[in-house]
Amino acid sequence: MSETLTEIPGGAGAAIVLDAGETVYLRNTFGEQVVDTWALSRADPSEVLSVEHTRRMNGRLYPKAGETFWSNRRHEMLKLAEDSFPGTHDMLVACCDPWLYAHYGCPPGHANCRDNFLTALRTLDIAPPPVPNPVNLWMNVPVSGEKVDITPPLSRPGDHVCLTALMDVVVVFSACPMDITPINGTDCTPRSVHYAVRPA
Ligand SMILES: [Zn+2]
Repeated sequence: MSETLTEIPGGAGAAIVLDAGETVYLRNTFGEQVVDTWALSRADPSEVLSVEHTRRMNGRLYPKAGETFWSNRRHEMLKLAEDSFPGTHDMLVACCDPWLYAHYGCPPGHANCRDNFLTALRTLDIAPPPVPNPVNLWMNVPVSGEKVDITPPLSRPGDHVCLTALMDVVVVFSACPMDITPINGTDCTPRSVHYAVRPA
């Protein structure tokens, strides 16, 4: 199948409008890139994909192919229809934000996933809700007993996921700009990812 792929440059974000039944294919083109992912109901943007509710409803810390992501009103929002990666996708850690980069001593203005989320929604004239905790696709956050670690990713070039909308949604992706810690690889270099929308 030939389809047109749209680039999300490393460190940037994008909002994608999906009708129920449509699927977004997301490719980790160069591997090791974390993509923070949110979803909002278009009927009421205060209904959002909730990792807290998803962990509860699925009874798991990590999403698995075939499972759904649930909203903060316990509706099924998105299905993880395909996942080529045998590892895990984090649902524990908040997105990077201006205060995290300040914590690391960066000057103000560093790109961050929080601002990418807010900016992407404003391009669609959607008033953003309080920033939900994202699904951090390909982010490697192993849990051992009570310890949570943040370690370099294990994802490979060309790994992909397919997310199918189970209601009319906006999906927001942020190719995480983190270049201080090795969550996007030990060379600390954010890289592009690519996506395409597939019909129902
Ligand atoms: Zn980030």
